[in-house]
Amino acid sequence: MKLLKRSPNPPDEADLQKLAERAALNQEKCDVYLRSITALLHYLQAFALDIEEIQSARFKEEVQELNEQFRDADRPKRLELDFENKKPRIESFIEHQHSYLKDREKELRDIIDLLTKALANLNVENREFYQRINQQGEKIIEISGLDDIKKIKNALKIEVEQMREIVNLKQDQEKRQIRHLASQVNSLQTELENAKAKAMTDGLTGVYNRQALDDYLEEKIERSRETGADFSILMIDIDNFKQINDKYGHVIGDRVLVALAQKCRGLIRGEDFIARYGGEEFTLLLEGASYRHAIKKAEQICATIASVRYATSESQSDDYLSLTVSIGVSQYKKGDTCQALIQRADQALYEAKHKGKNRVIGRKP
Ligand code: GH3
Ligand code: MG
Ligand code: MG
Repeated sequence: MKLLKRSPNPPDEADLQKLAERAALNQEKCDVYLRSITALLHYLQAFALDIEEIQSARFKEEVQELNEQFRDADRPKRLELDFENKKPRIESFIEHQHSYLKDREKELRDIIDLLTKALANLNVENREFYQRINQQGEKIIEISGLDDIKKIKNALKIEVEQMREIVNLKQDQEKRQIRHLASQVNSLQTELENAKAKAMTDGLTGVYNRQALDDYLEEKIERSRETGADFSILMIDIDNFKQINDKYGHVIGDRVLVALAQKCRGLIRGEDFIARYGGEEFTLLLEGASYRHAIKKAEQICATIASVRYATSESQSDDYLSLTVSIGVSQYKKGDTCQALIQRADQALYEAKHKGKNRVIGRKP
């Protein structure tokens, strides 16, 4: 510096004064720079986010050390060297933090993308729900356009809650649909049972039909094979029914069939089975009945039918109809097939007809 150069004359009072002022100004400048550097280094520390993956704690310590070096600096050359050495480290940390944040943002966008795609793939057949889910998906795409992570987080929270609501609504709707379907299944089941019952019932008399008899007998024989339980069958045929039809007409003939079925039903037990075998023939299956018991029951039926008189018109007239039946009886024996059992009862019935009708004939097993 010029002032410090040795002058040929010794410095006078004014020169010394100027020198002192200059020195004071330089000192003041130095203080301001030092304070500014200290503050800037402090900001640098604060700027580094607390992220373990990029070791920000270590970086902050290094900046702190540099700060202290500046504070205690008495050898400027040395300080300049230290600062030059630290510069690449500071630059690389800033770069690191920057790319870390970029990566994180990308991750976040990927998550949002995933959520959006998941929404798009939801199988929503209901039109209203489809629209709501779509709107929600659009909102999530908007969220990914926000820069601030906190804003994204809050917005996502709201959207996720709304989606949860939508899903709950959907579940409620599905529950209602399931209930509706269950009741439809129930009524279909009832319809099916009714149809089955109808298919097994004789339309005129309301007792079982021939098909139901065949099925029941098949099952019964199967079970008796295992349990050895007794049962017997009665083949009942109205005597001279053709004459009844001829004399009173088919309508009365039909009523006779209905009345006979009801009468027989009334004479047997609840667990016994009655079917219209065809035409004016009925088959009874007596549960647990031995041959003797079955003959007795058949005789009771035969006598009861013969004793009943049916009015043929509503008016009080003397025109009553009476009828008789012939009954063939057979008892199930081990090894019997349906056909064999029915055939024995049929043969007995044939014999009853042959012997003069209105009687019971049995075929021992
Ligand atoms: P048998 O004493 O030998 O049994 O003589 P039957 O007249 O009773 O027997 P047949 O087999 O000769 O005649 C049976 C009659 O039953 C003929 C048929 O028209 C009548 N029949 C069959 N099904 C029905 C029906 O559903 N309604 C009416 N009204 N008649 C029927
Ligand atoms: Mg007949
Ligand atoms: Mg007959």
